[in-house]
Amino acid sequence: MVLRQLNPKPDENGVDGKKSAVLHRDLGYGFLPLAEGEGNYLVLENGRRIFDASGGAAVGCIGWGNERVARAVMRQMLAIPYCSTVFYTTKVQEELCRYLVDSTNGNMSRAYLVNSGSEAMEAAVKLARQYFLELSPAQDQRTRFISRRQSYHGITLGALAVGGHEYRRAKFEPLLMKNVSRVSPCNTFRGKKAGETDEAYVARLVEELDAEFQAVGPETVCAFVAEPVVGAALGCVPSVPGYFKAVQTVCRKYGALLILDEVMCGMGRTGTLHAWEQEGVVPDIQTIGKALGGGYQPVAGVLVNRRVIDVLEGGSSVFVHGHTYQGHPAGCAAALEVQRIIQEENLLANVQAMGDLLSRRLQERLGDRPNVGNIRGRGLFWGIEFVADKEKLEPFPSDDHVGLAICERGLTAEYGISVYPGAGSADGIRGDHIIISPAFNVRSEEIEWIVDAIGRVVDDFFATATAHMAV
Ligand code: PMP
Repeated sequence: MVLRQLNPKPDENGVDGKKSAVLHRDLGYGFLPLAEGEGNYLVLENGRRIFDASGGAAVGCIGWGNERVARAVMRQMLAIPYCSTVFYTTKVQEELCRYLVDSTNGNMSRAYLVNSGSEAMEAAVKLARQYFLELSPAQDQRTRFISRRQSYHGITLGALAVGGHEYRRAKFEPLLMKNVSRVSPCNTFRGKKAGETDEAYVARLVEELDAEFQAVGPETVCAFVAEPVVGAALGCVPSVPGYFKAVQTVCRKYGALLILDEVMCGMGRTGTLHAWEQEGVVPDIQTIGKALGGGYQPVAGVLVNRRVIDVLEGGSSVFVHGHTYQGHPAGCAAALEVQRIIQEENLLANVQAMGDLLSRRLQERLGDRPNVGNIRGRGLFWGIEFVADKEKLEPFPSDDHVGLAICERGLTAEYGISVYPGAGSADGIRGDHIIISPAFNVRSEEIEWIVDAIGRVVDDFFATATAHMAV
């Protein structure tokens, strides 16, 4: 079945129409020649404008073409573009780390800056291990991690091993560290039983987590790893109230750390700077990425709790880790300026207000559609999960790539909207979805336009596609 419309063969067109020399990735290999960004619009080489309703992969958060950020980066590049952190630090790195630490109300006490979410997760995993080595020689046996099925923590081997994204893991399974086990995510749409209260659901999940600690030996676990709002692996799925508090209690009981991956859902995306602020917990280690630099430079980071830092700093060795480009001054300059703009323009309040509007309108426009299984999210981070059968919650066959096909339809000139796809799994435990995550400065009339455009894309897609589908 061919549902996808735009995708040419991978090497057909580079930006100049000649055979591309780019090694393309994944199913959605880049094929639209992008020339520039203007506010919330992406402009193709041929001049066609596409509204960016997802900031790429929930990266863009202040729109594109911001001169303030560009100037800040240029100033930094002219001052000093690169800094080996072995001997040097820079004012921008110090300022950004101070800003990040101060933003946690005294809970986190150090920040470690890297260049991607995967690097941040690699560092988080190694920090957890080193924490236990410094804590006591007896803790050397802590070598295991527990995470959740249908999670994504990055694409490098360590981060991939911790995550539970079956498709992205499959080919590399033999290369991945084996000391990771997984429990169910908190996903009301697919995990909560009919009639079950939030409290009972949390209790059931916590029992499962506790049993997993017991099964692997609680004294062997370094950390439990989770995204406060699951991004790429499920499509903007928040947990029910009380879940993270209960999970942290289990971690504390067994002396394990809580690592929260906020690479996608953090830095304001869900309406507070840190998603954990809405969960009533403070993680031991937290990773951040995407909205930190808003796409203006590759920059990500790790925030480390005082409890962990006290042990590491009192320990016998430095953190045995490092990247050539960590704490990159241009990345720090971009992130600092993006964060200043978010604060000065009071954009978190806008994320909350526009998020409420987006959720209401999406529900009104698409909630009753037979192939729309679930609309969920938080702040400006919303996912729509599609189903072949709404009663049975049956997903579409993963080979149909329904999420990707819907996104591609949106990209055509008829609709001109960019949203982010997510694939279903072959075992049917998660469905195809799309992610809607516009910039934090999106306006109400733009939200209305986004919902109208997505409504048309989804309706038209299923009106024409279901004829070929086994529904
Ligand atoms: N963690 C989460 C929650 C993510 O969503 C991602 C990226 N989608 C990563 C880690 C990895 O980040 P990166 O792609 O920047 O390496």
